Amino acid sequence: MIRKLLRRVFKKPARSSRKDQNSPAELAVAVHGIRREQVSSAARRTCDTLQQAGFKAYVVGGAVRDLLIGVDPKDYDVATDATPDEVRVLFRRARIIGRRFQIVHVMFGSETIEVSTFRAAHDKNTITDQHGRVLHDNVWGSIAEDAARRDFTANALYYDPVKEIILDYHDGVADIQDKTLRMIGEPRTRYREDPVRMLRAVRLAAKLGLQIDAATEQPIREMAELLENVPPARLFDEMLKLLTSGHAVACIKRLRAADLHHGLLPLLDVILEQPMGEKFVMLALANTDARVRAGKTTSPGFLFATLLWHEALANWEIRKKRGELPTPALFEAMDEILDQQAEKLAITRRIAGDIKDIWLLQPRFEKRSGKHPMRLIEQPRFRAGYDFLLLRAQSGEVEMELADWWTTFHDADYSERETMLVPDTDPKKRRRRKRSNSKKSEAPDTSGDAA
Ligand code: ATP
Ligand code: MG
Repeated sequence: MIRKLLRRVFKKPARSSRKDQNSPAELAVAVHGIRREQVSSAARRTCDTLQQAGFKAYVVGGAVRDLLIGVDPKDYDVATDATPDEVRVLFRRARIIGRRFQIVHVMFGSETIEVSTFRAAHDKNTITDQHGRVLHDNVWGSIAEDAARRDFTANALYYDPVKEIILDYHDGVADIQDKTLRMIGEPRTRYREDPVRMLRAVRLAAKLGLQIDAATEQPIREMAELLENVPPARLFDEMLKLLTSGHAVACIKRLRAADLHHGLLPLLDVILEQPMGEKFVMLALANTDARVRAGKTTSPGFLFATLLWHEALANWEIRKKRGELPTPALFEAMDEILDQQAEKLAITRRIAGDIKDIWLLQPRFEKRSGKHPMRLIEQPRFRAGYDFLLLRAQSGEVEMELADWWTTFHDADYSERETMLVPDTDPKKRRRRKRSNSKKSEAPDTSGDAA
């Protein structure tokens, strides 16, 4: 319905008729179709309060884009001409965040609205690194400048929930109508300013089912290496967004097609080239996508544990072949793989801890005798470890029979579990038990060890 309306109103001339980027197209609700009730009440109240105090205030960015496409916005950003100090005093629960470019978090119940002051366009005074990456971004500007420094036309729409109009500086509504993701300005310059925009292009196109415009897509392959200059913490945040977008499989495929995966997870290209590793990673990502789309939570630790598992496994195998003892070798392998990643992608300490927990449980699933299974099932991380085991089995890395055994064991009651335990086959333990048995009684050994 909305799309039909848009199609009727946005004939092709609308795109080229407006040359001046300082005067936006002002689109009424009859054109864009977004009613104020569709916007979260927290975002509406934020705009109301700011406007009543005499400031401009608009819902901006991803939320407007998502509403136009018909996707539920993840969160809401508001842009205003009020300074952070002016914003803060207007709200009961608000705090200023960030040092260089301050923004304000305005809180209503559990919802947080991110309010930022219009930012100025970059000029010759903007500080960049030697590749052109913008390092400081801390000057306030006009709304037109704010629109020009956003990444894609679809992300530069300003929705006023009081008047129910959209200010469109770069024909973003027409692009959305055409299902096109288009960079504002000259794509190469914009990627140089911030190489993460290449990843955003891939992620947003996959998430929203948009085509990346040819001029926007074309430079990505040749500029991919600029990602190497992006701070690892920023890359990690962006990768996490990508992997938990609900469209991770599509994103990874697009990253590979654009040759972007090399700079990201340095080991991802290696993993994806091993048939077993690729199957495992793709299964894990498909699983995550299904969870995200069903509104379930996902754990970054689990996700990165799957991405890096086959590397850890290969490293562990080499160590065991060299004669290292299995458990210390696994610890060493884990550290080496996580350290290698850290150079490119700053996996936080807490997440690295979660990854290790999941990996360390894996050899323990092999032990189905004695007290091992009962102890393992009591572990707080059992569920994550078990889900991980299922993926290993589904990808063919371990026997499905092992995963099935754990499924049955998990669902069984205590006495059924006892009957499931596999007799101990460790010769040292057998000898110990025989000795202690012979002291107590001469009863026959029923452990089945003779086999
Ligand atoms: P989503 O929230 O669905 O992941 P988003 O587009 O809202 O997507 P945010 O990171 O929330 O992404 O950013 C909010 C807005 O800030 C964007 O819509 C865009 O206008 C602007 N923005 C974000 N990152 C960049 C960037 N790297 N360069 C220029 N503008 C950006
Ligand atoms: Mg957003």
